[in-house]
Amino acid sequence: AAKSAGRNRCEIYDSHLAARAVERLQIEQGLRRARVGEQLQLHWQPIVELASGRVLGAEALLRWQHPEYGAISPERFIPIAEESGLIEDIGRAVLQEACRQGRAWLDAGLHLERIAVNVSARQLQREGFVNAVRQALLQHAFPADRLELELTESALQTVDSGQRLLGELRRLGVKLAIDDFGTGFSSLSMLKYFPLDRLKIDRSFIRDLETDANDQAITRAIVALARALGLALTAEGVESAAQRQALQALGVEEAQGWLFSKAVPAHEFALTQLQAELARHLH
Ligand code: C2E
Ligand code: MG
Ligand code: MG
Ligand code: MG
Repeated sequence: AAKSAGRNRCEIYDSHLAARAVERLQIEQGLRRARVGEQLQLHWQPIVELASGRVLGAEALLRWQHPEYGAISPERFIPIAEESGLIEDIGRAVLQEACRQGRAWLDAGLHLERIAVNVSARQLQREGFVNAVRQALLQHAFPADRLELELTESALQTVDSGQRLLGELRRLGVKLAIDDFGTGFSSLSMLKYFPLDRLKIDRSFIRDLETDANDQAITRAIVALARALGLALTAEGVESAAQRQALQALGVEEAQGWLFSKAVPAHEFALTQLQAELARHLH
């Protein structure tokens, strides 16, 4: 009986794996046809200055509306886009679209300090990456110093001569941030060797910040590290006023999170910002 139960479990497991493999293939095939600006859209999450509540910038986050399966989360499709290599084309289109949108906002009088764009390891590893960034900036006459690229610690570890690559990007004038900081396995010496501008504290440290002494200690250490190295700091995943307060008490000046806004379509983001600006002028 035990044997047959074991075998059944195995079969269930196998068929589950098979279903996952099929789903994965379907996602990959769907991604092959999806275009940025069509099924794939950039949404924008505001980056907020905690002291004033002002929106300083926005992070571009990809959203996929599949014609049959509906919305598919980036947590699901970005890894598949990375493994299949499709992220190279998608990533280039994301950079283009972000610069186009950023330019349109500047022209409309929405002067964000920065727009942030996520970059995958696969994109960084590609020969022409620096050129693709330069192209996107030039084509839309978007000021380089208002573009911030978000890289993860693990992505940086995969590139040969990452130092040179980041140096070239820096010379273009773009800003460089480490995303999900604290979750990677790289050593702190990375912070010494790579020319960086910002650390983004991963939301796993923010979730229980008001109650968890370890999270407080880690966040305090990251704040000290950033100060000592002259790096700017943003906290991710701020969902409550209590978390916001805890962050401010620790000296964190900027944050993103659902407390302020989820990522929203470009027109919605712009409308909210222009309304806020108008309200400030009327005061
Ligand atoms: P990320 O760059 O660390 O982005 C932050 C993620 O946290 C986003 O998930 C965002 O929607 C979510 N988030 C923001 N505020 C909160 C909050 O208060 N609470 C919680 N629980 N979550 C919050 P999203 O949009 O699902 O994206 C997931 C990841 O997919 C991103 O993590 C990024 O690594 C990747 N990604 C998204 N768009 C792109 C893209 O255009 N290119 C590349 N290469 N990767 C992307
Ligand atoms: Mg990011
Ligand atoms: Mg992050
Ligand atoms: Mg992430």
